[in-house]
Amino acid sequence: MKTFRKELKIHTQTRRAYINITRQVEEALIESGIREGLVLVNAMNITSSVFINDDESGLFQDFEVFLERLAPEKPHSQYKHNGFEDNADAHLKRQIMGREVVVAITEGKLDFGTWEQIFYGEYDGKRDKRVLIKIIGE
Ligand code: ZN
Repeated sequence: MKTFRKELKIHTQTRRAYINITRQVEEALIESGIREGLVLVNAMNITSSVFINDDESGLFQDFEVFLERLAPEKPHSQYKHNGFEDNADAHLKRQIMGREVVVAITEGKLDFGTWEQIFYGEYDGKRDKRVLIKIIGE
């Protein structure tokens, strides 16, 4: 069995952002040479997410409204976590949107369902963040 590990560096200009990272995962898969196996993609920070969904701009506006309804950023004082930090909402948003995805690799390709794409969700940006890509198989 072969293994392959790669980190993506991400630094958004806004507090919240959604980035399609499917191409970077496909590039890592080609680099790995693995044809059959599994790829794990996970956020390495606790205020960001990796998830799978449709690449449709209306949906990202809907996510924003949905997450702000469940865990509004402001007022910062509403959260016990916010003392030295102001990112309690980002921890909660990450919990809702998830930490990682696993995708099957078949014949050297990501074995997606219809319209599936891999996204990085940022909820406390403007700083250096990381995403781990780990591939196992043969
Ligand atoms: Zn925090």
